[in-house]
Amino acid sequence: MNVSIVDEARAPAAATRAHWSVDSVAALFELPFNDLLHRAQSVHRSHFDPNEIQLSTLLSIKTGGCPEDCGYCPQSVRFDTGLADQALLPIEQVVAAAQAARAKGATRFCMGAAWRGPKQRDVEQVAAMIKAVHDLGMETCATLGMLKDGQAEQLGAAGLDYYNHNLDTAPEYYNEIIHTREQRDRLDTLGRVRAAGVHVCCGGIVGMGETRAQRAALIAQLANLDPYPESVPINNLVAVPGTPLADTEPLDPLEFVRTIACARIAMPRARVRLSAGRSDMSDAVQALCFLAGANSIFYGDKLLTTGNPEVERDQHLMAKLGLHPAAAVPRASSSES
Ligand code: SF4
Repeated sequence: MNVSIVDEARAPAAATRAHWSVDSVAALFELPFNDLLHRAQSVHRSHFDPNEIQLSTLLSIKTGGCPEDCGYCPQSVRFDTGLADQALLPIEQVVAAAQAARAKGATRFCMGAAWRGPKQRDVEQVAAMIKAVHDLGMETCATLGMLKDGQAEQLGAAGLDYYNHNLDTAPEYYNEIIHTREQRDRLDTLGRVRAAGVHVCCGGIVGMGETRAQRAALIAQLANLDPYPESVPINNLVAVPGTPLADTEPLDPLEFVRTIACARIAMPRARVRLSAGRSDMSDAVQALCFLAGANSIFYGDKLLTTGNPEVERDQHLMAKLGLHPAAAVPRASSSES
């Protein structure tokens, strides 16, 4: 494909904000694999310690019973996945989980609740959790669904460093996956998070039956957020029985690596997180993802409701690859943005 590609690796820091057309990201996808990984690793090295990895632990603080219909999600009330609902956890349990994650080396603690959006009393309870986790010296992240005016400010005032809200997939594929909210709603929440001065964690899921062009469109859309997210989780679909995507054909692992590489090149200063789907990845594929510029993982035996590699396996893999954990960077002094 004869499309010029912005060479982020050689661009001065002040010029790293670039507009990415879908074609320009698609052209990256089409590069020979070695050329793509070389380019991604070059970009990575010019912005990060290449052997540093950020460790986030994710806890489901309220599970199941969600009225939305995201086709990949076992927590939707619309799908029969056998998942047991759980009301909002008591704050003591959340703090104990954060302390345990910190003891194992995690620096960021992410709290996820299966809501369409939080009610006011939910925001107050989660704000108390955020403050308690913040007081442990950890970075805090929350994913609670769509936010209304003022809610991001409340969470930020409690010490929230990051708010996660994913775009999920390309705009033109979105309505194949979700019907109960528009991507525009998601962009509005992201705008509220930005306006409140809270860092944005926003990525998507691949392997949901989308085309390569649609994967390119997702990366372009993320990269063109102004500014692009500080944290970009790239998830590989975990096909959960009972969800509409249960029988989706798995994505070729090397295509997943390509997606990571394209995210790294298009968003050079973002923490690109190798997220859901890691349990089924070999060490070799994960190593390729790190070479492609992933520099963050979910760390802990469980994600919201699906499995994740055991901590010991991750520690062993990090030791084999010579990776060391990143220190916590509280929002007030963050240099990621
Ligand atoms: S992804 Fe979130 S909003 Fe969608 S169904 Fe699951 S819990 Fe609900």
